[in-house]
Amino acid sequence: MKRLVYLDYNATSPIRDEVIDTVTAAMRTVGNPSSVHAAGRDARARVEEARTQVAAMVNARPRDVVFTSGGTEASNTVIRGAGAASILISAIEHDCGFAAAKESGLPVYVIPTSDQGVVDMGSLQSLLAKAEKPALVSVMLANNEMGALQDVAAIATVAKEHGARMHTDAVQAAGKISLDFKALGVDYLTLSAHKLGGPQGVGAIVLGPTAPLKSLIAGGGQELSRRSGTENVAGIAGFGTGAMEAMVGLGDMDRIKGLRDRLESEIRAIANDVIVVGSGAERIANTSCLIMPGVKGETQVMHFDLNGICVSSGSACSSGKVKVSHVLTAMGFAPEQAECSIRVSLGYQTTEADVDAFVAAWKSIYSRTRAR
Ligand code: PLP
Repeated sequence: MKRLVYLDYNATSPIRDEVIDTVTAAMRTVGNPSSVHAAGRDARARVEEARTQVAAMVNARPRDVVFTSGGTEASNTVIRGAGAASILISAIEHDCGFAAAKESGLPVYVIPTSDQGVVDMGSLQSLLAKAEKPALVSVMLANNEMGALQDVAAIATVAKEHGARMHTDAVQAAGKISLDFKALGVDYLTLSAHKLGGPQGVGAIVLGPTAPLKSLIAGGGQELSRRSGTENVAGIAGFGTGAMEAMVGLGDMDRIKGLRDRLESEIRAIANDVIVVGSGAERIANTSCLIMPGVKGETQVMHFDLNGICVSSGSACSSGKVKVSHVLTAMGFAPEQAECSIRVSLGYQTTEADVDAFVAAWKSIYSRTRAR
C-alpha cells in the first residue's frame, strides 16, 4: 500500500510513540485521582507529574496549570469566566474564541489585522480606550491557518496599561516555538495536547496567580474548583509526555522550516500567480497557506487526497454551505481568492520525499487547470 503523506499537523499531529507508551501504562492501572487509597494516589501522581511537565514547557508554576478537555474548552472557560466587562478579540482567532466571546453575552470588539495577519496596535489602543472596563483581550500567539505570529508580550503590555486582562491561545504555538508564560506577561494561556503529538481530548489553561477564573463546568470541584469532573488521567499523562517530547522537538524546527521553505519556493517557481498567504510576516516554521487562483480549496484537497496526500482547505463546510475563511478575508483577500486556499502543515515525521510528492501533485493540478 502507498504510504500516506500527512501534511495536516495543524489539524492534529501524529501521536508520538512515547505518548502512546505513557497513555497505555496509565490505562493499565486503576484509580480515581480524588480517592485517598493507594490506587487513587497512583492516579494522582500521574496527573501531578503531567502538570509539572506541561508547566515546564511554558515556564509556569505547576499549580497554575488547569487541565481541560482541549483547546476549545480552555478558551471557552477563559473568555467566559475571566470576569471581564467586554471582550476584545483579534479578527483572525480560531472559531472557539469567537464562539465563546459571542456566548459570553458581553460587548465584543474585533481587533483588525494587517494584510499579513498581524494585529493592528493602533486599533487595539483605540478599542481599549472605548471598551467597557475591565476588558479581556484575546489574541492568539500563532495562527492555525497561515501561521502568523503575534507580538503577544507587546499586546499584553498595552492591555495592562488600560487595566485589561490578556489571554493568548497558544494551541498552535506550543511545540513549534519555545514558550515562556512569565515573559509573555499574559494572564491566561491556553493549550491543546493533540497539536503537539499528545492525545486528542485534553488541553490546559495556564493562568496567573491573581487571574480570576470561573469554572465553566459545575461539579465535584476538581482542579482546585477551576474545572470540575474526574480528570482524564491517561490523556493528561500523555499530554505531559507530549509536552516533554515537544520541547525536545524544538531542535527539529530548523529542518522543518527548511522543508516548508523549499516547498514554497518550488511552488513559486512553477506558478507566478500563486499567493503564499502571510509570507511577509513572522510565521511558525511548519505552516504554509497557498492560494491557487481559480481552483477551489475543496477541489484541491480532493485531488491531493486521491494522490494519498492529506492537506486541508481554509474554508470549512457546515450545514452544506462552504464558509469562506474569516482569517483570509480579515487579511483583505476577496472571498473568491480566500476560497482557493489550502493549508499545508508539516511536522516531526515530514520528509523530503513528502515535500516532493506534494509539489508533484500541486504541479499536476495546476497544469491541468491552466491547460483548459
Ligand atoms: N485554537 C486553535 C488555534 C486551534 O488551531 C484549535 C484546533 O484546531 C483549537 C484552538 C481547538 O483545540 P481542540 O481541538 O483541542 O479543542
